[in-house]
Amino acid sequence: MNKNEMMIKIDELIGKMTLEEKISMIHGDALFYSGSVERLGIPELQMSDGPMGVRNEFPRANWVPVGNSDDYVTYCVSNSAVAASWNREIAYEAGQVLGEEARGRGKDVILGPGINIKRIPANGRNFEYMSEDPFLISELVVPMIKGIQESDVAACVKHFALNNQETERLWVNVEIDERALREIYLPGFEAAVKKGNSYSIMGAYNLFRGVHCCENKELLGEILRKEWGYDGAIISDWGAVHNTKAAAESPLDLEMDVTYDFDKHWMAKPLLEAIEKGEAKESDVDEKVRHLLLLMFCLKMLETAEEITRKPGCYNTPSHREKVLHAAEESMVLLKNEEHLLPLMPEKLKKLLVIGDNANRIHSLGGGSAEIKALYEISPLMGLKSQLGGNTKVTYAKGYYVSPKEESDTNWQEDSTKEDGQDTLKNARNVVSQEVLDRRKELREEAVALAKEAEHVIIVAGLNHDYDVEGYDRDTMELPYDQDTLISEVLAVNPNAIVVVMAGNAVSMGKWKDQAKAIVWDWYSGMESGNALASVLLGKVNPSGKLPESFPYCMEDCGAIALGEYPGRPLTTEEAKSMNAHTTETYTDSIYVGYRYYEKYKVPVQFCFGHGLSYTDFTYSDISVEQVAGTGSELDAVVANVAVKVTNTGHCTGKEIVQVYVGKEDTKIDRAVKELKGFDKVELASGESRVVTIPLNRQAFTYYDSDKQAFVVEPGEYEIYVAKSLQDVQEVIRISLA
Ligand code: BGC
Repeated sequence: MNKNEMMIKIDELIGKMTLEEKISMIHGDALFYSGSVERLGIPELQMSDGPMGVRNEFPRANWVPVGNSDDYVTYCVSNSAVAASWNREIAYEAGQVLGEEARGRGKDVILGPGINIKRIPANGRNFEYMSEDPFLISELVVPMIKGIQESDVAACVKHFALNNQETERLWVNVEIDERALREIYLPGFEAAVKKGNSYSIMGAYNLFRGVHCCENKELLGEILRKEWGYDGAIISDWGAVHNTKAAAESPLDLEMDVTYDFDKHWMAKPLLEAIEKGEAKESDVDEKVRHLLLLMFCLKMLETAEEITRKPGCYNTPSHREKVLHAAEESMVLLKNEEHLLPLMPEKLKKLLVIGDNANRIHSLGGGSAEIKALYEISPLMGLKSQLGGNTKVTYAKGYYVSPKEESDTNWQEDSTKEDGQDTLKNARNVVSQEVLDRRKELREEAVALAKEAEHVIIVAGLNHDYDVEGYDRDTMELPYDQDTLISEVLAVNPNAIVVVMAGNAVSMGKWKDQAKAIVWDWYSGMESGNALASVLLGKVNPSGKLPESFPYCMEDCGAIALGEYPGRPLTTEEAKSMNAHTTETYTDSIYVGYRYYEKYKVPVQFCFGHGLSYTDFTYSDISVEQVAGTGSELDAVVANVAVKVTNTGHCTGKEIVQVYVGKEDTKIDRAVKELKGFDKVELASGESRVVTIPLNRQAFTYYDSDKQAFVVEPGEYEIYVAKSLQDVQEVIRISLA
């Protein structure tokens, strides 16, 4: 059925519906379902989080999980890990797994991927997001959505838009200049809806220019619907709607909430009453129902039993586990490897000491709505032990102490939209008793004593989901639980100890970064995480991930603090009342997010954007840029092709990510030194060469002109940087554009 035929059927259906039936479709009728209209064969829409797999099953009206044995799933790698692979195919496969699993679990909409810009490492949800760079996000989110939607399941890209922090996440108003909005914060979403054809999108909790995102006519109406021509379903974040009339008049289609009193949702009974009183229009409701029915038609949800063509899904298949393992392997980043300390040679490992709580920790059940009831999760310790077989004696020392979480009577999500909902965990994190300090010291001393005698040591440190967690930002980039002291002391007695950091967010490594010879970064990388890590450490897999974000030294170095106003300033009582918000934050850092800031303002970072090493070496040669003539003014027309011959000059097969940045020294406007505009990942056997060609379209040379309200090319000379990372530039070639 084509779209026109769908629209005819949709209007027929709407014509038969009562106002009550229409209203039942546009708000939650269960925690993760919208209402159905059985009389007309319209089913409920079944949703689930997202984005690291399909979340466990909840009853219709209770946040205590059902607890059956049938909702164990494939625990996928985090979006940060997908982004670190810089591999479009990996993103596509990650989408396929998510889509098939969601469908297998009977879901219609998977609440992901999350693609907000990683503006500051404080953000507790950064692990759910991809990158600080809009181009990298756009290139990866499109194949991911395609992968998901192949299974007749809708992706729901989130959170639209400017949801870049958890502090005051429901009550922070974001003010931003048009250029930064267009160049940094919107491109990922635009690509998701225009190129990825995401069937749905989730409105964010925060406010944008004085209005809550889910009621925001400028964001949802002018930009999303009109400019981008979006006719997919706009779903609210859970509890992000605050006003009946505003929501009804806005392009939002479906209101979801964390509370159970479904009839009291703003777009439930209150809307019905408003329409009856003539204060709201039924035609607005029709428009919402139209989008939701279109989504259902696209997903083939309205098929009758005689004609089922909708794809069946599946979950927990061996093929899903294989894809997740592959993604995890491609996402590990080798940050440092002096003296070729890595890989360790299993045949030379008589004894191995593994230190660190993260070596033995299971992460899947934490993080907030991204929590997963994983079929299993291989910890680093298990991965190492199982791959080393019986020949190596592996000893484990915890090294640092993590206080167990207090049991709570309520699920965190139930309280998550309450005004003081953020205080409990933050308080628990900040209060450290003498007993805890003593325990930490004891564990540290034990680990250091063992490390002194050990020949081979691996420390698995980092964050966990007490810090990489929805609802809370971090105050500092310092590693928690006195891990810096542990790592420094272990390195002091055993300088060859290898450090693995497991986290979804940058951490300060300044206290021991120079001391450590080898550092590996492991994002939360799914159920096969420990196997992937062990394969990298033991040389079965050659690491090939590169950083999708910069790692600054400390939080204060970050543009959002140095130039911006993070975490926002309190509103006056009057403003707060009129806006229904607590704080406001002007993004005065503008376009200077991540590497755009560090490079322009010459702020040194621990590791730069795009950095990642390999066990082999690559050389770049024969670099050229060929301009394409007569392309006109279309922004997606290819205007230049960058070619580079990459040769693997080392001893093993490996993958290299070639990066192309564009800059303009001779510019009349304020712009970043250079920006990522192309990349490709190529696998080469030892001694093999290949020419990699990376196209640059006209868009790659533009900036957003706020007066003209358009992306424009400034005529003149441009520098094209062919690079291994932001700071490891192999050649600069200049071209002129009219
Ligand atoms: C989160 C969303 C999530 C929703 C449903 C909210 O707290 O912000 O990302 O999809 O809950 O669990």
